[in-house]
Amino acid sequence: MQTPASFEYERATSVDGVIAALKKRGSGARVIAGGHSLMPMMKLRLAKPEYLIDINDLTELSYIREEGEEIAIGALTRHVELLNSELLAEHFPLFRDAEQVIADPVVRNRGTIGGSLCQADAAEDLSAVCSAVKAKAVIRGADGERTVSMEEFHVGPYTTAVGAGDLLIEVRLPLRAGAGSAHEKVERRAGDWAIAAASAAVWMDGGKIAEAGIALSAVGLTTIHLSRAEQLLKGKAPTDELFVEAGEIASTDCSPSADGRGPVDYKRHLAGVLTGRALRRAVSRALHQEA
Ligand SMILES: Cc1cc2nc3c(=O)[nH]c(=O)nc-3n(C[C@H](O)[C@H](O)[C@H](O)COP(=O)(O)OP(=O)(O)OC[C@H]3O[C@@H](n4cnc5c(N)ncnc54)[C@H](O)[C@@H]3O)c2cc1C
Repeated sequence: MQTPASFEYERATSVDGVIAALKKRGSGARVIAGGHSLMPMMKLRLAKPEYLIDINDLTELSYIREEGEEIAIGALTRHVELLNSELLAEHFPLFRDAEQVIADPVVRNRGTIGGSLCQADAAEDLSAVCSAVKAKAVIRGADGERTVSMEEFHVGPYTTAVGAGDLLIEVRLPLRAGAGSAHEKVERRAGDWAIAAASAAVWMDGGKIAEAGIALSAVGLTTIHLSRAEQLLKGKAPTDELFVEAGEIASTDCSPSADGRGPVDYKRHLAGVLTGRALRRAVSRALHQEA
């Protein structure tokens, strides 16, 4: 039987209360959202928090809404809400692509975008999705609020810019004209973690790719930001040759390890193919919207 180490538990009633409790309890305290990553780790005793702060009652952190030039997503928004959001499907269809293949309904009904990003598992689909669309993360701590890019957010394996006393509050997605996006994933069976996954976003202007965002899941120690491929695409007309070239960069710039899901060469190949495929669909969606 897998049993967690003993811990104390508090149900938070406000964001300020969470920040105060994190400060008071120090590094032994941990926030719990959907619990789908933290609880398995506690049962295996890979995580042994002494004090759990349950944020599930903080409904003020659960929303997807347009705010000026951005879409704001509260940290406690569940996978199922991301899946069903028409606002996201209209502006950033890669969220729906990803949510259709993340886990199963039990996990999607409970797991949150905040938990997914803060877990920072290299195979997390939403980490690549948010990186590709150039999202910003709003983090609150005892010293106030700060906003960081996804490059700054991903510090290392299972490590983010969200420190011990911090709470991820919100994810902000910039709204810009000519956008298209797609997420491509290969998994061993429905609901499994990725063998490899690629997220791509493009912003088209006058038939050319004004800017691109590309990120990979499950083929490195952390989410891979493909900045070299993004630079390649900038200012170019979209062609199949260009997508293949971007895919070759993805194969080179990822760093997968061999495991039960496949050998290194296979995963590199997959990263390249999925990158090309995600870009092709992202551009097609952008052009379709432009028309
Ligand atoms: C069987 C199974 C299959 C899965 N398959 C996939 C998959 O295919 N693709 C995929 O991407 N994911 C997959 N997942 C993971 C799933 O998406 C989880 O929901 C997600 O990783 C964690 O979200 P959570 O809300 O459950 O976080 P929790 O488990 O509650 O928390 C995870 C971590 O984040 C911290 N945290 C949570 N919220 C905040 C916050 N607002 N601020 C600061 N820290 C916070 C917690 O302290 C903890 O360290 C799977 C999970 C399971 C159990």
